[in-house]
Amino acid sequence: MSTAPRRPASAERPEYDVVVIGAGFGGIGMGVELRRAGIHNFLIVDKNSDIGGTWHANTYPGVAVDIPSVYYSFSYEPPKRWSRMFAPGAEVKAYADQVVDAYGLRSRIRLNTQVVSGVWDEWQHLWRGRTATGEEVTARFVVGAVGGLEVPRLPEIEGIDQFAGKVVHTAKWDHDYDYTGKRIAVIGTGATALQLIPEMADIASRLTVFQRRPIWVAPKPDFPIPSLAKDILVNVGPLRRAIRAAVTLGIDFGISGVGVFHSYIPGVVQLAQRGGGLMYKAQLAGDADLAARLTPEYAPGCKRPSVSNRYLRTFTEDHVELVTEPIEQITASGVVTAGGAVHPVDVLICATGFRVMEKGYTPPYPLVGRDGLELGEFWDRNRYQAYQGVSVPKFPNMFLITGPYGFAAGSYLAMIECTSRHAARAIKEAFRRGATAVEIKQEPHDAYFRKCRERGAQTMWLSEACADSNTYYVNYQGDPAPIRPSTHLEMWWGNKHFPFSHYSFTERPATVAAPQRA
Ligand code: NAP
Repeated sequence: MSTAPRRPASAERPEYDVVVIGAGFGGIGMGVELRRAGIHNFLIVDKNSDIGGTWHANTYPGVAVDIPSVYYSFSYEPPKRWSRMFAPGAEVKAYADQVVDAYGLRSRIRLNTQVVSGVWDEWQHLWRGRTATGEEVTARFVVGAVGGLEVPRLPEIEGIDQFAGKVVHTAKWDHDYDYTGKRIAVIGTGATALQLIPEMADIASRLTVFQRRPIWVAPKPDFPIPSLAKDILVNVGPLRRAIRAAVTLGIDFGISGVGVFHSYIPGVVQLAQRGGGLMYKAQLAGDADLAARLTPEYAPGCKRPSVSNRYLRTFTEDHVELVTEPIEQITASGVVTAGGAVHPVDVLICATGFRVMEKGYTPPYPLVGRDGLELGEFWDRNRYQAYQGVSVPKFPNMFLITGPYGFAAGSYLAMIECTSRHAARAIKEAFRRGATAVEIKQEPHDAYFRKCRERGAQTMWLSEACADSNTYYVNYQGDPAPIRPSTHLEMWWGNKHFPFSHYSFTERPATVAAPQRA
């Protein structure tokens, strides 16, 4: 791949003002912000055959949002059709369609279009994207909205290729396969598995769950939302906003507050862990051994906290087995665990998560900025970093929706609203100034990164309480880069009010025309 475009003979006008990569909620939210900023010459591309991103990919039985629905939505577009407090996956996907239609984004979306690389053209002040079919797409600005949980992680277990039965990852569910009456094995007990396992128990002749580390599960206050309440929520803005504010505060204290500022509130984590242990014992009163095996040794919140009223009880069913011995090997007909026990299996379900902020996967394609710098290489050598989780020096006109240190733990949609607004604000300002390149300056970027590193070191995720949790909130470099160590309020304020002086705005000299606002 060429990294140094040649000096042009004449100015080139990019095909689009903005190309957004990904038509999940990140890309959709970005499209809305561009529309609101009066920027209409944009294209949203997605490798999938439909919009929705994670909610298009994840259709395994039991998939549902695991925080209250009212908070898992954009503040400006109340979900009209959600039936429950914790909406099922299909309803969340339908909400993505609702937003796309409400903001007239459908015509701006091109599906089945996979971006495989992007190169900054310093001469023309534009990005050259290449798709899997070899097509070149040019844009003045590019926004990466590929999501944090994008690339499924398949377990690297000896013999998995030899397995003669069905293998499926939860993010690539095969709906044509009939799982009913089969001997099903689930590898993994994360936030996905705990939604899936009770559903599989309902249809399997035998269900074997291979657990490496247990998971904390809280009761799920789920109930149907009466239509009157839904109408009121949709139509009475102030009430909806008040409820969102209350939920935000709860999440800010319960997740961000405890996780980020836990060293200031000593004892809370231990108290939660003790309380959780007692709750597990109470729920599994008849089987102390099972309760002990299902109780994590790390503190609640080290991994994504999740909710279920069925998960723990499922393991008391006669045809369900919890296996905690490590998997040694997979054979053609089953799973062999340490000690030599053989577990015959027809279907192997990998609920083994995703590759998060790993080299080669984040970003999932090479992105070459100024001076031939490749983003993945840069992050690998210098640690994952981005100003407010959105922009990186030497990558002009490029913005990220789910970048390092961008997500204050809670709702991804709350983050998307903040980071997409940040990107749209910077792009709009570039248009206003007639600039063709906007780039975060080194100093404010470094100051932000320094603050995240200092705060990050104090977070619960790097503390003793999470030492054995293997949480993906800490990446392979030992950094809690997937999380912004701040409250939601700070995330909202920082992205809405960052000073424009933090960016440099420059105009392509000579013959290249400035971008036009459509
Ligand atoms: P995850 O949290 O990364 O969990 C992966 C599980 O697989 C863990 O239990 C892990 O064990 C196990 N595992 C991985 N490799 C293994 C191996 N080689 N052998 C045995 N076990 C192995 O992934 P996830 O459950 O898919 O959840 C990912 C994220 O998706 C969540 O944290 C959440 O953010 C999101 N999610 C959201 C919703 C929603 O409703 N919004 C629902 C589901 C998921 P260890 O613990 O030992 O590593």
